[in-house]
Amino acid sequence: MEIVDLSQPVHGGMQVYPGDPPVSIHPAAQLAADGVNVLSIHAGSHTGTHVDAPFHVLADGARLDELDLALFHGPAVVADVRGRPARAPIDWAELEPCAAALRPGAVLVLHTGWSEHFGTSRYLEHPWLTAAAARRIVASGVRSVAIDALSPDPTPADGEEPGSLPAHQILLGAGGVIMENLTNVSALERLADPVLSFFPLALADADGAPVRAVAMAGR
Ligand SMILES: [Zn+2]
Repeated sequence: MEIVDLSQPVHGGMQVYPGDPPVSIHPAAQLAADGVNVLSIHAGSHTGTHVDAPFHVLADGARLDELDLALFHGPAVVADVRGRPARAPIDWAELEPCAAALRPGAVLVLHTGWSEHFGTSRYLEHPWLTAAAARRIVASGVRSVAIDALSPDPTPADGEEPGSLPAHQILLGAGGVIMENLTNVSALERLADPVLSFFPLALADADGAPVRAVAMAGR
């Protein structure tokens, strides 16, 4: 079996969603002085490649530890929506080519190509999923949606008021999960029938958590 990493490396000062806690990682113990190496980690629950639980945007939504782990594992259905201009909407028409593959248990991957801008201000200007497309995804039975960008909703520019989050509301409102900040999605092209796994940290009562996202396929 081949396993391909689809996760952003987590390091101090890495790009996070505007307003989220900065990532700070430093040694808490060091081998020479303390006999062991131990890191101290300060970070938000939506750091790096991570999943959103329904509780992220819904007061009565399920928290991470209340979700079926099957939501974090399944055959990948990749929608190639690369080549879009900044802040372009992704509508159902663009997902139609993979519509027949959408079914319960599948993981829909929105391949925007935007991960190449990670770490720059351009990364905030990613394409986003329309509410109508999010409703069609939910109607197909899919409950796991991944994107190689900050969010399936438009991200406000620095200093701009945060808007509503319709794609989050619809996907999470259906009891689904959203995985954000995926990277290396192009690697899926050379894998036959890849299966995605992106199990979150077992963080109690959480609205989301970092994941190690991988694609697995037989050689
Ligand atoms: Zn998130």
